[in-house]
Parts: sequence; structure tokens; C-alpha cells
Amino acid sequence: MGDRELEFVKEAFATNWIAPVGPHIDAFEQEFCQVIGAPYAAAVSSGTAAIHLALRLVGVQPGDEVFCSTLTFAATANPITYLGAKPVFIDCDRVSWNMNPDLLWGTLERRARIGNLPKAVIVVHLYGQSADIDPILEACNHFDIPLIEDAAESLGATYKGRATGSFGRIGIFSFNGNKIITTSGGGMLVSHDSQLIEKARFLATQARDRAPHYQHSEIGYNYRLSNVLAGIGRGQLQVLSERVAARRRNFKIYQKALAKLPGIEFMPEVGFGQATRWLTCLTIDPKAFGADREQIRLFLAEQQIESRPVWKPLHLQPVFADCEYIGGAVSEDLFTRGLCLPSGSNLTNADLERVISAIATIHHQNSTTNLKNHFSSC
Ligand SMILES: *Cc1c(COP(=O)(O)O)cnc(C)c1O
Repeated sequence: MGDRELEFVKEAFATNWIAPVGPHIDAFEQEFCQVIGAPYAAAVSSGTAAIHLALRLVGVQPGDEVFCSTLTFAATANPITYLGAKPVFIDCDRVSWNMNPDLLWGTLERRARIGNLPKAVIVVHLYGQSADIDPILEACNHFDIPLIEDAAESLGATYKGRATGSFGRIGIFSFNGNKIITTSGGGMLVSHDSQLIEKARFLATQARDRAPHYQHSEIGYNYRLSNVLAGIGRGQLQVLSERVAARRRNFKIYQKALAKLPGIEFMPEVGFGQATRWLTCLTIDPKAFGADREQIRLFLAEQQIESRPVWKPLHLQPVFADCEYIGGAVSEDLFTRGLCLPSGSNLTNADLERVISAIATIHHQNSTTNLKNHFSSC
């Protein structure tokens, strides 16, 4: 937490706005709009809830298909199934680790020919880096398909100078505990369409019609954010740029120290924008490095250092086994060889040094055993 969150929370208590309505929610939405550069926003209880609402708002219905990035967290695709629709997973490219625009174009063209276009496209901005939005948006506009941006991991990232999440019909964000800023749990929808955001608020509060009694003509949800948590969010927004700087600093220190080792390649930062480096991610070439991703992860775990594999692509998840997918080899390779290093905004130089020296140790250990094996086999 920064310096202001507790003040805002105390204000909520002092004014007795302990509810999913109140002045902090309105202010958080307005302040968020300013950061993102989108005119309308609705604060909700999670990023997953925001995706669920976004899909409803663009009219996804049972039996529809939704194209979706495959290299992502399950929360991106789960809400597609809440609506009885089916995801079709699209592979990423090696440049951005995000949805491959050419694959999207080609697949939409093929689908258009047989008159079977999806109802929506969800593009993810993974690990704090924007997808290549221009060609993706162009493809969606060409075939008149609404684009939803899952910017849960990319708050603070830009594409050609504009914030991720501000390009599509709807952008969604998450304030879960692991994200770059947090309200403990929470989410946001943003849009350039005021009516969509109005409708989001309506659906998020049980779709209550304008009437003095309780009247409902549609099925709604209980998805609004608490005024107390919105107070935390307002404080967190004030430290967002510091958090981005801290994450980028972690990355620079890791890169400077580890790029010297053979077989390590960092997630590239594409020239079209600034990534936040929410997580520092890299891929391992096991032959060159002397150990594979899993050996490194387990070695780090022995030293009480938590690291994680890159997201397992959704087309490989048992729960989505019967879903169609386009491509897949790139995300599968990134999953097999990819590792996310400790990346918290509060890591000290000593913390980073400990991770770096552990990785250097496993490289040196394994390269000397490899050498020994090499000579003994000679
Ligand atoms: C965290 C996350 C979500 C879900 O957000 P919650 O607030 O945890 O519901 C969705 N998509 C991606 C890519 C995420 O990382």
C-alpha cells in the first residue's frame, strides 16, 4: 500500500459509506478514466466479473463463439462459458507473446467465407505488454466484430502512446492482490460508449428497473465494487507510476545480470509501446543453459524462491480440451521453456541479487557437470 489508501478507507468509515455505492466509487471511476484516457468506466468486484459483463454487453449468447488469446490465465476464457458460448483459442507471436494478428486475420477471413464469424474477440495484454492492437482492431472492424481488451495484467502499459484497454469496444482491468495495483479484489470496465457503461452498472446491480418497487426485466448480477475498496483503489492509483517504475527496474537488474548467461532470453519489449514488466519473464534454452525450466524452478524453490512457469495455454487445459484452437506451437513452446521470476514492486537489491545468484549457481553447477561428463565420455 502507498500513503493515501488508509486515509480514503477511514473517510469511508467516517461517512458510513460501507456499501457497493458511495463517493469513492464515483471518484475512483473518474480518476481511472483520466489514467486510461477513456471517458467512461464502471468499477466492479473482479476482473472476471468485468469480462463476464463485457461479453454480455456485446451480446454473446449460448451457442456463440468467442475468439480468445490462448496464452493467458483461465479467467480470460471462463466467462465465455458462463454465457453458454465457446472459446476458440488463437496462438500468440514470438515478438509480443500476445495474439498473432496474422492468425486472427486469416481465421476471420476463412470464417467469413463460410458465414461463421465469432460474436466477439478477446485480446489479452500479457505480463504487462500490449498486443499489436492496430492490426487486431483493423481485423475486428473489417468484419464488424467487437473487440474486448483483457488489460488485467497491463495497467500502466501503452501502445503508441495510449493506454492498453482504451482501444476496443470495452477494456477490462483487475485489482486482484497479485496485480500491479490492488484493492484486494476488484475490477473495472472502460469504454468510449456511455450507454455500454450505463448498462454494465445496471447489470452489475441485479438489473433493477427504474421503479419504486423491485422490478426486473433482465437477469442481473451482484458485481459492484465496495465503496471501501474503491477508497483503496484511489490511493493505489496515485502510486501506479511508481509501481511501473519499480517493475521495470526489477527487469533491468535481472536482464543486466542474467543476459550474460547462455541460453536465457527475456520476453521482448516491442517498439510499439512501453511494457510495465508486471512480471519479468524469460525463456530457457536447456542445451545452452545446462538446465531446463523445471530444473531451474525446482532449484529456486529449494532456496525458498518462488518462480512460476509461463501460463499453460488454454487450448492445453483439460477443461477446454474440446475447444477449437488456431496455431498453438508458439504458446506451447513459451509454456515449456518460460519462467516468471519474482517481480514484486517491493523487491530489494538484495532480493534480486539472491535470485540472480541462484540462477547463476545452477548454470555453473550444470555446465561443470556437463563438462565432466563430456571429458569422461572422451
Ligand atoms: C487476473 C486476471 C484476470 C482476472 O482478474 P480477477 O480480478 O482476478 O478476477 C483476467 N485476465 C487476466 C489475464 C488476468 O491475469
